[in-house]
Amino acid sequence: MRTKIVAGNWKMNKNLEETEALLSELSAMLPDSTAEVIVAPTFVNLQAALAALQGSTIKVSAQNMHFAESGAYTGEISADMLLNLGVDIVILGHSERRAYFGEDDAFLAKKVKTAVEKGMKTIFCFGEELEDRKSDNHFAVVESQLKNALFDLDASAWQHIVLAYEPVWAIGTGETASPEQAQEMHAFIRKTISDAYTSSVADGVSILYGGSVKPGNAAEIFSKPDVDGGLIGGASLVAADFVEIIKAI
Ligand code: PEP
Repeated sequence: MRTKIVAGNWKMNKNLEETEALLSELSAMLPDSTAEVIVAPTFVNLQAALAALQGSTIKVSAQNMHFAESGAYTGEISADMLLNLGVDIVILGHSERRAYFGEDDAFLAKKVKTAVEKGMKTIFCFGEELEDRKSDNHFAVVESQLKNALFDLDASAWQHIVLAYEPVWAIGTGETASPEQAQEMHAFIRKTISDAYTSSVADGVSILYGGSVKPGNAAEIFSKPDVDGGLIGGASLVAADFVEIIKAI
């Protein structure tokens, strides 16, 4: 049985007070759910988020980290720094990191390797651009993203991996992949992993969908057999919306 997950990526939003307020609202409204609920505030508010969520089932994730152990990497954060705070979940490979900070699959492979070696739950994001879909190249692009960033991992490392398929054309645009498009890609991803490893590795990996998931479309997307939850951007910044999405799983 795969873990169902609803994760909120807050990106560069919410100052300290707003972080505490949103978490207090969310905690008060949190429904009983079998899904794991994760929030990813900005680095500077991770500690406050952990404090606010003491005793809560809501988990805290970082939005990024560096691959190096430590050293001369001005502005960067290491896995050990996160773990030392009590954060053992990290999002890697978000399309905004790829587009605005030049992170490619080879670079991301190093980050993933460090994260899994440190035992962190690693939410690895990937997905095609609009042109890839229009030119019917989306399966090839996704396959190469997976292969280049993840397929050097040992099978045992996959217990730490959560995948987030996020078609770039659906992120923050209000445009969503249809539930059928999401299911088709998620099934393809699972088969690609099964071919590279084993069906038990593939069957054990939670594959989240991300891209304009809202209260109104979450249930239909989550109803698909290979969709194991969602990575939510905009709608995770509003407690009532995020809660509706959690209820939809
Ligand atoms: C995201 O940034 O990971 C995301 C899915 O954003 P949104 O839900 O706003 O499209």
